Amino acid sequence: MSTFSAPKGTYDLIPPDSAEFLAVREALAAPLLRAGYGYVETPGFEQAELFSRGVGESTDIVTKEMYTLTTKGGDQLALRPEGTASVLRAALQRNLHRSALPVKLWYSGSYYRYERPQAGRYRHFSQVGAEALGAEDPVLDAELIILADDAYRSLGLREFRILLNSLGDKECRPVYRAALQEYLRRLDLDEDTRRRIEINPLRVLDDKRDSVQRQLADAPLMRDHLCEACKAYHEQVRELLGAAGVAFEDDPRLVRGLDYYTRTTFEFVHDGLGSQSAVGGGGRYDGLSEMLGGPELPSVGWALGVDRTVLALRAEGVRLDLAPGPRVYAVPLGEEARRVLFGVVTELRREGIAADFAFGGKGLKNAMKSANRSGARCALVLGERDLAEGLVQVKDLESGEQSPVPLDRVVTAVRAKVG
Ligand code: ATP
Ligand code: MG
Repeated sequence: MSTFSAPKGTYDLIPPDSAEFLAVREALAAPLLRAGYGYVETPGFEQAELFSRGVGESTDIVTKEMYTLTTKGGDQLALRPEGTASVLRAALQRNLHRSALPVKLWYSGSYYRYERPQAGRYRHFSQVGAEALGAEDPVLDAELIILADDAYRSLGLREFRILLNSLGDKECRPVYRAALQEYLRRLDLDEDTRRRIEINPLRVLDDKRDSVQRQLADAPLMRDHLCEACKAYHEQVRELLGAAGVAFEDDPRLVRGLDYYTRTTFEFVHDGLGSQSAVGGGGRYDGLSEMLGGPELPSVGWALGVDRTVLALRAEGVRLDLAPGPRVYAVPLGEEARRVLFGVVTELRREGIAADFAFGGKGLKNAMKSANRSGARCALVLGERDLAEGLVQVKDLESGEQSPVPLDRVVTAVRAKVG
């Protein structure tokens, strides 16, 4: 132990769990690569105002969860709490929206929220995300939902559900909003929530407290207020998902935490995770670009939580096929043997065969223990007498059989053995 430990709400990824984490990240992104999404990477921090405008002044993310700092130069920055605002900012700044639309981008990285730490809820976590900018087309909404579904399924995840809703657009949402406000103002709610009714009443539907939820049983629903265009759009998304064999549940109360969503909204929930059940979510955000001072740019995207996906896999007992360890383990006995055998290991690696080496001048017994523990298929043992005869012993670590191979043919022999 050192005097230091990882900050509250954070954890270190170390082997072997870190391999699982990497594999999940890769699997979540793989379907995007096949669908024409290009990789984007933005800074870990941005001007704080990007998020207060882009995520919303009334959201928990901005009011309670953002890590903000003032630089020595007096700039107000924030560690990024989410990816969409940054990706859109980058696309606008670099004029990607002037090229062929939609611009399809994906990202992967660390996000920071000052939350109450608990299982599945951390202050530093990891997301893989996708954004399709500049097209209003239900096929695009369906594409993203299908790609996320494919990603989870490719990992072997089964016990998740897709919740789907439409939040309407600038035609029908204001009418609904007013109806909802009228309903909410009559309820018995605390000061903070009453304020929220005036700023963003839809967010009240997202309140997790029983005392609030109980009063919302008869709240008006967006579903009953959708305009014809939104209704038709939503119906197309539903049909496309059905045609792709992607099961979903209509959830007329799904609103999500961010202010900028319009029309299609969805969440992936896993039933094995307790209260932190959302493994991913997203939706359409047709108004965000204009909120950031950009042109009209209807867009849709999602973010999938890597940490919670790993937990969901564990909850289902899914074991991933992870990259194997070394196939070959080299055990030199003596100084000259070390030099020669290290050369062989380097050559094996360059040939694409994973190989490791008994470092630190271990004795035979200790080194063989390490060889067995490494999971390698065979060990190469080189002692002084073998070296003088130009031989190396190739030991099969499963059967225990051992046979001498000429040093200059060891790479070929090993390749034949471990494939
Ligand atoms: P929740 O309702 O659980 O707070 P959210 O709506 O804040 O989730 P999003 O902003 O949509 O989450 O982020 C997308 C995904 O990122 C979530 O579904 C979740 O898997 C993951 N995520 C969000 N916040 C955290 C966190 N603090 N720790 C770990 N994963 C998180
Ligand atoms: Mg949250």
